[in-house]
Amino acid sequence: MRIIVQKFGGTSVASPEVRELVLKKIEKAREQEFHPVVVVSAMGRRGDCYATDTFINMARDTYKYIAPRELDHIMYCGEMISAVVMAGTLQAAGMDAIMLTGGQAGIITDGSFNHARILKCDPTRLFGLTKAGKIPVVCGFQGMTSEGEFTTLGRGGSDTTAAALGAALNAELVEIYTDVDGIMTADPRIVANAKILDCISYGEVCQLAHQGAKVIHPRAVEIAMQKNIPLVVKSTFSDAPGTLITNIGKEDADGTTVTDRVATGVTYLGNIVQIKIHLDEDISSDDSYKVFKTMADSGISVDLINVHPGEIMFTIDSDFAERAIAKLKRQGYDVEMVESCAKVSVVGGGMREVPGVMANFIEALSKKKIAILQTVDSHTSISVLVQKGDVEAAVKALHEKFGLCN
Ligand code: ADP
Ligand code: MG
Repeated sequence: MRIIVQKFGGTSVASPEVRELVLKKIEKAREQEFHPVVVVSAMGRRGDCYATDTFINMARDTYKYIAPRELDHIMYCGEMISAVVMAGTLQAAGMDAIMLTGGQAGIITDGSFNHARILKCDPTRLFGLTKAGKIPVVCGFQGMTSEGEFTTLGRGGSDTTAAALGAALNAELVEIYTDVDGIMTADPRIVANAKILDCISYGEVCQLAHQGAKVIHPRAVEIAMQKNIPLVVKSTFSDAPGTLITNIGKEDADGTTVTDRVATGVTYLGNIVQIKIHLDEDISSDDSYKVFKTMADSGISVDLINVHPGEIMFTIDSDFAERAIAKLKRQGYDVEMVESCAKVSVVGGGMREVPGVMANFIEALSKKKIAILQTVDSHTSISVLVQKGDVEAAVKALHEKFGLCN
């Protein structure tokens, strides 16, 4: 049985007109003799009436604190509505569609409400339904514990649902439908002439996604990679072929492997603060251990770590800034915080051992007089910390410098 998982994001299910386009994508898959399993996100984007954020705000209107378990029961409503409406759309077109919650579709998670991890995915029911010619329409983002508690999978969770179902069903393909024609060399909202990548490796797209490209969730990519299930990111609104994500580079016309390009894309993460701890230089102690242990014990993850004699620097998500500073000050540290920072990264599988990449990176930013607060590199990426106000200019400058423009 040839199974295809087709996931439709918020903008792809937002209106009756768009849902007709979704219907066409499902019909096309059936014409190609696939058995489709459909996954949907909540309708629309932040601010829209059936979007997840709207439900959260509604619940928190009067009482700011609602326990994570209870919050999950309102957070998953968006997908419920969306899946019912999408199943209705298919049924009106004469298809035998059946709406399922994440739990009914076999997604079993741990009990971490609001950001549960998938422990296993039991495909028995979905296999049975597809074999019988039905089209399951599964609520993305939802899971269930083995005790029957509802959970949600965190931001971008519908991508994860699609990948997990694809892996459990051994799908031939998982399609992620969105509002852009594929994964691009930069967020098209910042770089107007960003290019669509026709092919990208799991590793590169994971890096791009972890460094901020929110077009696909990194966990979805990791799950697909484990089972070697190809993913395609494409648009509901066009017939463009989209971006194929696999583990092998595609041969270009000139014989070079596409995924060996030095730079694949430029991306950024906002909402970051830089923390600097000034230490007495002649005291050699295990301060860095103490500092990072404090952060770990507080559940705060740190990034961009630099440890020098006399100074420890690192970055954290700004939502945790107040808590981190209070803890460190309580321990007697001399702490300085640089607010409103962002991390801008160039990602590329072919970056390793290419001399001059860092020099080019720095040159691009210094030409635009962009101050670099910190740098970090690995063999597949280079990142810098800049002031938030410099993000757009930095992304554009790096995109051009690394030859990624159309
Ligand atoms: P969906 O609701 O379909 O899941 P998302 O908003 O999660 O859609 O993801 C699509 C958006 O991701 C695009 O509209 C685009 O602005 C943004 N985006 C950020 N970086 C990239 C990139 N490198 N390539 C393509 N889109 C990107
Ligand atoms: Mg998304």
